[in-house]
Amino acid sequence: MTEVASTPAETEAQQRLKKISHWIGGGIVAGESGRSGPVFNPAVGGQTAEVDFASPAEVDRAVQAAKGAFPAWRAWSLSKRTELMFRIRELIHDRREDLAALLTAEHGKVFSDALGEVQRGLEVIEHACGIPTLLRGHYSEQASSGIDVYSIRQPLGVVAGITPFNFPAMVPMWMWAPALACGNTFVLKPSEKDPSASVLTAELLREAGVPDGVFNVVQGDKVAVDGILEHPDISAVSFVGSTPIAKYIYETAAKHGKKVQALGGAKNHMVVLPDADIDMAADAAVSAAYGSAGERCMAVSVVVAVGDAADPLVDAIKERLPKLRIGPGTDPENEMGPLITREHRDKVASYIDGAREQGATVVADGRELDIDGEGFFLGVSLLDEVTADMDAYRDEIFGPVLALVRAETYDDAVRLVNDNPYGNGVAIFTRDGGAARQFQSEAGAGMVGVNVPIPVPVAYYSFGGWKSSLFGDSHIYGPEGINFYTRGKVVTSRWPDPATSKIDLGFPQTR
Ligand code: NAD
Repeated sequence: MTEVASTPAETEAQQRLKKISHWIGGGIVAGESGRSGPVFNPAVGGQTAEVDFASPAEVDRAVQAAKGAFPAWRAWSLSKRTELMFRIRELIHDRREDLAALLTAEHGKVFSDALGEVQRGLEVIEHACGIPTLLRGHYSEQASSGIDVYSIRQPLGVVAGITPFNFPAMVPMWMWAPALACGNTFVLKPSEKDPSASVLTAELLREAGVPDGVFNVVQGDKVAVDGILEHPDISAVSFVGSTPIAKYIYETAAKHGKKVQALGGAKNHMVVLPDADIDMAADAAVSAAYGSAGERCMAVSVVVAVGDAADPLVDAIKERLPKLRIGPGTDPENEMGPLITREHRDKVASYIDGAREQGATVVADGRELDIDGEGFFLGVSLLDEVTADMDAYRDEIFGPVLALVRAETYDDAVRLVNDNPYGNGVAIFTRDGGAARQFQSEAGAGMVGVNVPIPVPVAYYSFGGWKSSLFGDSHIYGPEGINFYTRGKVVTSRWPDPATSKIDLGFPQTR
């Protein structure tokens, strides 16, 4: 990424840019590292802000604020913390349009989709409002004679979240809402590409009554991330982003003794059996492939058409593409916005020629989109006759390019899904309940949709993939999120009459 050093010779235009800084100890803290980066409005193509990049010393300042706030925060009663979670939920709900507007301005997704992102994040906050029930332990009376045994779950301390550009509000909510509800204090390192949502979130949490130091934000790049991974006072790290970085985060955080969950990239397959309703499958494929310009980790990027489904499905998808409205996300008529950066747009576009050269048929070419201005737009592309050895199949393109693979049989389709190194989401479209049931059992992915193309679990289940889509053994939010942000303790308790006390060197017996 481009780095812009702050020097006295800044141009007038740069000086007018919005400045985005850290949030430490309950307020904005200007960066002191001398390093920063540009933030763009992808629909316009111009730089709109400059974001500070934290040094390890600035990360340490945030961690010390979180560490200082932890003892008092964990001592809050569950009912008091619950009341605060409800207030947070109400405030974010009230200000959802402001949050969504920032997402549209810096990420580019259309406003309705940005509102949808905030809504799904709110559901995770709502789940965290149930924290007294979620943290309930177990109690066994008279486990042995005069002995009771019970389990409790306690917060970890300071925990950190490192998040991707594609859900700048929701993915942080997946982390900080359960983490705070469990009694931890938090340091967020959002994506440097769309950092404004993190600062508004911090302001709203303070307004709701979150004590200073409980929630902190450090802006930045790899330097800030490494500062988090190596910091001795951080107990756990949650990461969501691309697979190579997820692997690095998992290995480095674990090496430094931290609990870690690292969610990576994806190549989500949608299998369409010959008996499926082709129009319904085409609607689903178009929605799931091109929504948010394909920049969703749960986007369908491969349609696997089984047997006779292929030709009518290609025709049905193709027919729908010219009707999609593409343009700035601020126009409510538009259904798809730009990509995140110019470089990413160009990289995504390069897969179209690449696929043709490797033998695919380009049914629709997104480069033909005609749109005014310098925005990072790319139209929708459909590649037919893609095979498993092509780059367009192997790579996570993360853009509005849908690959269609033709499979002869159901077994071939399942083999394709299971041989793929990723295992985030997968879907099957069919009218055959037996086939769907077999698929849900056989498919090697963490989230399965049956006639549902984007099977993002509701907040009271947990989200996460298999294989190269997840490093660590914990999925995120839901019950596994509560588990991740706490550690268990089992208490064995006895209140004997001192008169019965005696020495016994044998191993404790229960019978
Ligand atoms: P990314 O991996 O480039 O960045 C994610 C975070 O890691 C950012 O905060 C970034 O600053 C930091 N980072 C980037 N390079 C780093 C490095 N070399 N060392 C340390 N930290 C680094 O991902 P992105 O481009 O922001 O987001 C898109 C990716 O995220 C896609 O691969 C997508 O599939 C994935 N994603 C996955 C899920 C999921 O739930 N599995 C959800 C959303 C996005």
